[in-house]
Amino acid sequence: MKAQIPTSKKSSRRNFFSKAALGVSGAMLATSYDGLAESIEKTPKASAPSDLKITDIKCGFIRGEHSLFVKIYTNQDIVGHGQAVDGVYGTYYVVNHLAQRHLIGQNPLNIHRLQEEMRRGGLFKGAQAGMYVCVMTAIETALWDILGKALGVPVYQLLGGKFRDNIRVYCDTAGSRLEPEEMGRRAKEDVDKYGFTAVKFDIDDRGDPNKLDPYNWSVSIPELRRMEAQIAAVREAVGPDIDICVDCHGRFDEAAGMKIAKALEPYNLMWLEEPVPAEVPASYARIRASTTTPICGGENWYLTYGFREAFELGAVDVIMPDLQKCGGLGEGQRIANLANTYNVPFAPHMVASYLGAMSSAHVCAAVPNFLILEWQIYFHKNEMFNEIVTFDGPMLTEDGHIPVKNVPGIGVEINEEGMRKYASPGIPFFK
Ligand code: MG
Repeated sequence: MKAQIPTSKKSSRRNFFSKAALGVSGAMLATSYDGLAESIEKTPKASAPSDLKITDIKCGFIRGEHSLFVKIYTNQDIVGHGQAVDGVYGTYYVVNHLAQRHLIGQNPLNIHRLQEEMRRGGLFKGAQAGMYVCVMTAIETALWDILGKALGVPVYQLLGGKFRDNIRVYCDTAGSRLEPEEMGRRAKEDVDKYGFTAVKFDIDDRGDPNKLDPYNWSVSIPELRRMEAQIAAVREAVGPDIDICVDCHGRFDEAAGMKIAKALEPYNLMWLEEPVPAEVPASYARIRASTTTPICGGENWYLTYGFREAFELGAVDVIMPDLQKCGGLGEGQRIANLANTYNVPFAPHMVASYLGAMSSAHVCAAVPNFLILEWQIYFHKNEMFNEIVTFDGPMLTEDGHIPVKNVPGIGVEINEEGMRKYASPGIPFFK
């Protein structure tokens, strides 16, 4: 149906986005979008998906190389946007390698095939976990953005449609590792000010004077008492109906994990996160069997393969893949669906940006077992997060939910100019 493609692809694309821009409020967007049938009807006018080709991939790093942003360019002026975090230090050349080896010249709509070619092509280069998978994640996410823009549908629709319109989030607070009273005060402030119904605090503290030494991660009795006092203060401050998560960052040994989980039982946690290192899922399973405190893990597991053992062992009550690390949005959905077969709820980790948050929200909308998504208090305190991306409509409701964007693709784009001043020095920025 090539004849139906507008002669000026550029003007077609402009109209496409001006339509999205007109619906500036979430409510307007929601009512203007009637679903898959309407989008299929529009598809031949939007682009010629079968003729799409990847022409270039560029990237930028910010936050001291904590965050990788990629843009995938095509021969039809459609650009895909994606992000990865954590395991992306020093990966500029990995992005370029994957672009040259597996992507440029390919049709970007074959997402699963391209993902599998990158993964299998990297089996001896570290494609099981870590940096290689993080880079794949940013690329895979940008491919979903292209597919949505090419077909005129939101990513959640491409993932099979949505179970829900709004994604409940919990706030990772800035109130960790503080005196109990201050932790409680900050928890209450976040709940009252932003409408969050769940909060998270860190209780692992390398600087605790009651630690045996900085390398031993047993837990001493005074340390345990400090942790209990902190979480008791948070529970007291927020009341019985707000969910509380507690993060240990995978630091403790197994006996310590058991003691911490047991000590926090009276506070009805939503979960205790990564009590022990991620490398030993069986240790999670033994801790889980020892306590009524729900155990959560997954932010340092990669690809569906990397999660399988945890489910087989019954290691977690809640699974928390990071969708900016674990392999991408399709991979996140596969992990959620695998979790669902083990009756485990899905609560993605998220330390990215509004692009990462909205990318994750599309997956959360499209799986039945979604529980809650992470949100960061620093979004409210650091103007950088507004400068580095663009989007229309609200990002967060007053009661702590992300309304999933009803626009083609992800609905949040990289603002290259706004991001430039934050670029990590010494690394080419979108060149
Ligand atoms: Mg964590």
